[in-house]
Amino acid sequence: MESVIIVGGGIAGISAGIFLQKKGIPSVIYEKNDRPGGVCYSFDEKNFHFDLCCRLLNGIESGWRHKLMLETGAVFPGMKTESSPFEIYQNEGESFRVEWNCASFRKLLNGLCSNEDSRRIDHFFDTVEKFYNLSQEERIRPFGLLSLREKSEFLRKRKPYFDLYKKILPVPFEKWIAEWQSESVRKLWQAIYPDNYSLFAFFTYAAARLYGNSGRPVGGSKALIRRLTETYRNLGGRLETGAAVDEIVMDKKRVAGVRLGKRFEAAPAVVAACDLSAVLTKLLHGQVKFKQAKTFLTHGDLVYPIITICYGLSKRFGIPDMLFLEDDHGVDGSPDLTNRLIEIQSYESIPGAAPPGKSAVVVNLRCDWYFWKNLRERSEDAYRQYKLTVVNELNDCMERHFPGFTDAVEVTKVLTPLSYGKLSVLYKGAWRGFAPTALSIKHQIPHFVSSCKGLYFCGQSVAVGGGIDAVTEDAYETVEYLLAKEKFIF
Ligand SMILES: Cc1cc2nc3c(=O)[nH]c(=O)nc-3n(C[C@H](O)[C@H](O)[C@H](O)COP(=O)(O)OP(=O)(O)OC[C@H]3O[C@@H](n4cnc5c(N)ncnc54)[C@H](O)[C@@H]3O)c2cc1C
Repeated sequence: MESVIIVGGGIAGISAGIFLQKKGIPSVIYEKNDRPGGVCYSFDEKNFHFDLCCRLLNGIESGWRHKLMLETGAVFPGMKTESSPFEIYQNEGESFRVEWNCASFRKLLNGLCSNEDSRRIDHFFDTVEKFYNLSQEERIRPFGLLSLREKSEFLRKRKPYFDLYKKILPVPFEKWIAEWQSESVRKLWQAIYPDNYSLFAFFTYAAARLYGNSGRPVGGSKALIRRLTETYRNLGGRLETGAAVDEIVMDKKRVAGVRLGKRFEAAPAVVAACDLSAVLTKLLHGQVKFKQAKTFLTHGDLVYPIITICYGLSKRFGIPDMLFLEDDHGVDGSPDLTNRLIEIQSYESIPGAAPPGKSAVVVNLRCDWYFWKNLRERSEDAYRQYKLTVVNELNDCMERHFPGFTDAVEVTKVLTPLSYGKLSVLYKGAWRGFAPTALSIKHQIPHFVSSCKGLYFCGQSVAVGGGIDAVTEDAYETVEYLLAKEKFIF
C-alpha cells in the first residue's frame, strides 16, 4: 500500500501520522526544518532553557482531547504539571492575584464585586461548570460523517451543549464584560482575556483552568515532541526532516503526490498539516478553488504576531509564572505599536530552566508583522538595529519594575515574527493562526475540498485558536475524514 504523505512535522502532522498508522494506513511525514515540532519549540542557551510553547496545555487531566493526546503521547497517565500557585494580572491601575481554582477565584470575585453582581458570579460559575462537564464528552467521529440516525441521536444527547453554544457564541465578550457593575471586575476580565475573542472561547478557557484541566506539562515542548515522534516511529511511521515540499501535484482533479525539489513522490492522499494560505498559493499554485478557505483567510481574525525576548538572569526576581505587568511608558513591539501591558513568563518554578539561583524569563510583545517583514527586506542591519531598540526599551521597563534587572542579564535572545516564520510557515506572522473570535469560529473551513480529491487540511491554520490540544483533535478529525472518503483506496 502506498503511503499517505503528510506535509509538515508539527504537532498536527505527527498526530495525523499517529492516527493513520494506528488505523493500519502507512504514512510518511515531510518536514522542511531539520527538526520536527514546528512552532512547538524550545532551545538552550548557556545553560538556560527557554520554552516558547507549552506554557499551558489544555486537556491535561480528562476529556475527549485528553484521550486523543494519550493516544499520541502528548500526555501520559499520571503526568505531572509544573506551575506556580498564582499569576498576577494588572490592568488600569489595579493588580489581581489569580489562583486558578474555583474556591480561590470565587473568593477573588466576591471581594471585588458589588452586591448587584453576586447573581452574576453564580451564573458565571454555573456556566463554567456546565462547559467543563459538557467538554468531557467523547465525540468519536466528526459530525459530518455520522449517519442520519447517528446525527439525530448525537444532537439529542448533546442538546445542552448546543443550547449553550447558541446562547453564548453571538454575545460579544466586551458586551458581557460591560454588564458587570463592578469596575474592578471589568478590569479583571479585560486583563485575563483579550476582549475581541469570543465569549465562548473565554468560558472554555476559564473552565479548563478553574477545574485543573490545564497546566504546563513536565519537560515542556522538548519532551512532548520527543514522545510524539517516538510514538509515531514505534508505529512504523517515517519522518523525514530537511524535506521541504515544493508542490502538491495534481492529476486532473485528484492529488497525485508531492514534489520535493526534483524528486516526485506519489501518494494516494496528501494531508497538508502546514499553513493553509501557503498550500493554496505556493504548493498548489492557486489551481484549487476553495471558496470557504478564501472567506476564512479574508474574514477570520488572526492571533496577532509577537516579538519574544528571552532573558537568562544571574538571580531571581520572584516573578510568578505569568505576570501581565502594566507600564505607563510602555514598550514598542514595532514603531506604531506600544505595549502598555507587558506579558512576562517566568520559569523560576521550573526545575532545570536555569542554573541554581538563576532564572529564565520570557517576554512577549505584540507587534506589526508588516513592519518587521519590510524592515528585513530593506536592510539586515536596520532589522538587527531595531531588535536592539526593542530590547533597550524593554530593559528600561524591566529595570523600572525590578531594580537590578539589567545588571542581572546574562543572555538575551530575540525572536521576531520572522523568526517564528522560520520555525513554521505562519500566515501574516500569526503565531497561533486564527483567533477564537465569534467571526473566526463562524468561518471555520472543512478538512477537505471537493475540487481536489485526496487532499486534506489540518493544523493550527484551520483549527481556530490553535494550541496543542486543538490541533490534536483536528488531526484526528482529518484522518477520520480521509478514511471515510478514500475507502476505495485503502
Ligand atoms: C510562542 C508560542 C507559544 C505557544 N504557547 C502554547 C501553549 O502554551 N499551549 C498550547 O497548547 N499551544 C501553544 N502554542 C500553539 C501551539 O504551539 C501550536 O498551535 C501548535 O504547535 C501548532 O501545530 P501545527 O502542527 O498545527 O503547526 P506548526 O507547528 O506550524 O507545524 C507546521 C509544520 O509544517 C512545516 N512545513 C511548512 N511548510 C512546509 C513544506 N512546504 N514542506 C514541509 N514542511 C513544511 C513547518 O516547518 C512546521 O514544522 C504556542 C505557540 C507559540 C508560537
